Amino acid sequence: MKTLRLILGDQLNIKHSWFKEVNDNVLYCMFETKQEASYVKHHIQKIVGFLGAMRDFSVKLNEKRHSLIYFKINDENNFHDFKNNILQLIEKEDIKHFEYQYPDEYRLNEELETLASSLPISTSVLSSEHFYTEREELTVFFKDKKQTVMESFYQYMRKKHQVLIENDKPVGGKWNFDKSNRKKWKEESLIPIPYDIKHDVTKIVAEVKRAGVKTFGTINERCFDYPLNRNEAIGQLNYFVKELLPLFGDYQDAMNVNEVYLYHSKLSFALNIKLITPKEVVKKVETSYYNDEAISISQAEGFIRQILGWREFMRGMYWKLMPNFKKTNFFEHKNKLPDFFWTGNTKMNCVKNCLKNSLNNSYAHHIQRLMVLGNLALLLEVDPEEVDKWYLGVYIDAIEWVQLPNTRGMSQYADGGIIATKPYISSANYIDKMSNYCLDCSYNKKDKTSVNACPFNSLYWNFLASKQEKLQKNRRMFMMFNLLNKMDLKLLESVKSRAKSIINEPDNY
Ligand SMILES: Cc1cc2nc3c(=O)[nH]c(=O)nc-3n(C[C@H](O)[C@H](O)[C@H](O)COP(=O)(O)OP(=O)(O)OC[C@H]3O[C@@H](n4cnc5c(N)ncnc54)[C@H](O)[C@@H]3O)c2cc1C
Ligand code: SF4
Repeated sequence: MKTLRLILGDQLNIKHSWFKEVNDNVLYCMFETKQEASYVKHHIQKIVGFLGAMRDFSVKLNEKRHSLIYFKINDENNFHDFKNNILQLIEKEDIKHFEYQYPDEYRLNEELETLASSLPISTSVLSSEHFYTEREELTVFFKDKKQTVMESFYQYMRKKHQVLIENDKPVGGKWNFDKSNRKKWKEESLIPIPYDIKHDVTKIVAEVKRAGVKTFGTINERCFDYPLNRNEAIGQLNYFVKELLPLFGDYQDAMNVNEVYLYHSKLSFALNIKLITPKEVVKKVETSYYNDEAISISQAEGFIRQILGWREFMRGMYWKLMPNFKKTNFFEHKNKLPDFFWTGNTKMNCVKNCLKNSLNNSYAHHIQRLMVLGNLALLLEVDPEEVDKWYLGVYIDAIEWVQLPNTRGMSQYADGGIIATKPYISSANYIDKMSNYCLDCSYNKKDKTSVNACPFNSLYWNFLASKQEKLQKNRRMFMMFNLLNKMDLKLLESVKSRAKSIINEPDNY
């Protein structure tokens, strides 16, 4: 019986049990489709990253002598949707059984489920063998709990998988070293030369253009520097652990005008397309902590929390909350995303720099995404739908299962506090504490109301004033509301008036 197995662009796990043996009755298929390249407008590096990694994976399958049919984006027989491509192959190759791995995205899951049930042959679906948790594990874990707090899930994961645990206790005596992970980087340490990956992707870029796929952002076509295969992903991981992990935790939240990645791992793309597994990454970091004195517990725990905690938590919450999650808009925000998100053209130095990173590298680190760009979008009362589309398009690691909980949940608080326990908002104070952006900005970080006042300041107080009713029961907001309630009323009126002008015409700032 001949079986057709579909490999999606983010299922490039060569260690999957599918590939253990070569079976002459199995035919694999991979499709570069305009549908997947265009469901939102994508950064050129995101499209190139996916196509580059898929093509590399197809070479590996051929080398291992698996049979594979691969449709490139400009191939004539490519229908550009899964259904028609699969029907075509079933007929042409006399296929009797169809198999696929569970997709991570709700949209694709629905599409493939419908497709499978409509096929004239038998079908089956199996795990992608990537995550620590099954899709429903979080739903079960939080079933009888009042709050869905990441920390309790994280402790459960540490115990369940025996990560950084000794004698049933967390190594270092604490579960969480977050408080030691908040230093500003004052250029006191050297940032090592980046891991050396250089792909010439001129051919792929030309093919994407020829296919008429609309993209944005820039790319260095001869020096594309993301891992595109397992070896490179492992290289990136080893490099990270040796060179960057010793200071990762310390500067996890820091931002600097001259540095794109600081001590961050740049592993999200490789992880999300499954070149490596989270278990491999966590194991490597844990082992290195035990063997390398340069890596303290706060660095190792700080990093492991991101993968074993946040990444699995976000995935589980996505499957728990979808499909309604995608429609949430707690604050009923309706504004358009400012044009400068697409061009980087703004006088706000922090925003300009984070956008420069995003548009030039298809990358920004967590705090840039959360406390500068997401913070601003929330304070400007932008429709979460617009925010989602931008985040999903711009970052190379953006796949809906991880982008949506981070953007709509954590950053925009559109779910009303299911993912985050409070809205992540700040004035210039926090941005200045964690970066050197304010030093070279046309705005005054201290001022709230003058024409040169930092826009974040009036927007922040305006947000608190206008959302007080909706948020007043939130204990984590008490201190902020206390300060708001003590503010001179005349000052508050000028703050609100400046905020209104900014919200109405953000592209003037
Ligand atoms: C508004 C917003 C949108 C985001 N969108 C995405 C996205 O589309 N795709 C994505 O992978 N991450 C997203 N993140 C999480 C995080 O910003 C990125 O994973 C990280 O910046 C990737 O860079 P890195 O690999 O250098 O990460 P590091 O800082 O080195 O962290 C290590 C790894 O931990 C994981 N991780 C860290 N934080 C999170 C988190 N909050 N959720 C899930 N995994 C996490 C990632 O796999 C990351 O590679 C978003 C965060 C915010 C605030
Ligand atoms: S002054 Fe305001 S706008 Fe300028 S960099 Fe600082 S926080 Fe950003």
